[in-house]
Amino acid sequence: MLIDTHSHIYEPEFDSDRAQALQRCLESDVQLLMLPAIDKESYERMFELVRQYPQMMRPMMGLHPTSINENPVWREDLARVEEYLHHPPQGIERFWGVGEIGLDFYWSNDYREQQMEAFEAQIEMALKYDLPIVVHTRSAWTEMCEVMERFAGRGVRGVFHAFSDDVESYRLLKKCGDFLFGVGGVVTFKKSKLAEVVKQMDLEDIILETDCPYLTPVPHRGERNESSYVKFVCAKVAELKEVDYQVVAEQTTANVKRIFKL
Ligand SMILES: [Zn+2]
Repeated sequence: MLIDTHSHIYEPEFDSDRAQALQRCLESDVQLLMLPAIDKESYERMFELVRQYPQMMRPMMGLHPTSINENPVWREDLARVEEYLHHPPQGIERFWGVGEIGLDFYWSNDYREQQMEAFEAQIEMALKYDLPIVVHTRSAWTEMCEVMERFAGRGVRGVFHAFSDDVESYRLLKKCGDFLFGVGGVVTFKKSKLAEVVKQMDLEDIILETDCPYLTPVPHRGERNESSYVKFVCAKVAELKEVDYQVVAEQTTANVKRIFKL
């Protein structure tokens, strides 16, 4: 059994064939999808999917760092995250993580302080509700390591989604809490630096993800990504670690179940 730990399959890209995409998941033994939230523009779409497929979906709640840029009401939006964690909406049993949250300085450098404040506030929410964090990091690995070092020893647990930094950051972050590292389609790309890093990571620290509809793995690079393609990521990790596909599937699924208490 495989778990896609980062799926945006609730997005409109799947409106015309979502049921078939989910059927392809089951045919590839992808039985569970973890759904990271983005912001209020898409929360309701995510909730609706969870109501429709409660056995297969595990929703999270959070405010994405890029949803803080140019957003005059981001503090209200943060309050909404906390409200949802406290009182899940109708038909949603619970949330399984606080995410996706984090730092993204790729699009703009003008909201560093706001992103930092929102990130730290949401880590505090995760601690309060005993939930793992699911962390998005883009053009901000140095700052990410600094924030996590400040939280070291506080009992934070979670996932660095789409991990893309070097072995040194991997080792440093591991010391800051109980963390796993999300590996996705990028590892299948030719000349992927990540492939070399994955070779040096412990299989106990790795979980598999797609980030669909983005970051499509080979052999479908250039097309829309979907959760069933997590099997291609699994196969690539198996090749890099020189173990059987089944070994990677079992270990990464066990890792997900441990960190999310599934
Ligand atoms: Zn995402």
